[in-house]
Amino acid sequence: MDRDAFPGDEFPDGFPDGFPDDDGGEGAGEGPFEGGPEGEPAEEELPELCDQCGSLIDPGEELFALVPDSSALHAWDPDFDGKRVLTACSIDHLAELVDQYRRRPFVVEEQWAGKVCRALEQHGEPLNIDALAHASGLSADQVDRAVDWHNERARRWRKRFG
Ligand SMILES: [Zn+2]
Repeated sequence: MDRDAFPGDEFPDGFPDGFPDDDGGEGAGEGPFEGGPEGEPAEEELPELCDQCGSLIDPGEELFALVPDSSALHAWDPDFDGKRVLTACSIDHLAELVDQYRRRPFVVEEQWAGKVCRALEQHGEPLNIDALAHASGLSADQVDRAVDWHNERARRWRKRFG
């Protein structure tokens, strides 16, 4: 078994690079005001965008669906892990989105790796495998497989992109 990135039972501080970041990094600050904290209350009635076509959806017209997705991780509540809420402007676009996710395989190791990552982020310090299992709600064996899965992906990523 190849454990080169995580020698022994200790993990370095967090996963190495290459772990997919789900947020894509774009912020809300568009337009003349650059999203400053002052001014209008930001949280009110943010219009939803269609996940399929990106168009603005009138309030009350949004359609939602919940699909299984092994890359979906809730920020803190494990009960919501593995589920993604899709938002669409029309029943057609919702159907297309649901179809796309149906064709994406649900990889349990990916889901476990996400839980391991979240646990490491929340602790902000190296954990041994037992502590990590406890913190992530997984068994030691699942943590082990999650780490292997992650390392394999990181290796393939480096091979392709440098
Ligand atoms: Zn749409």
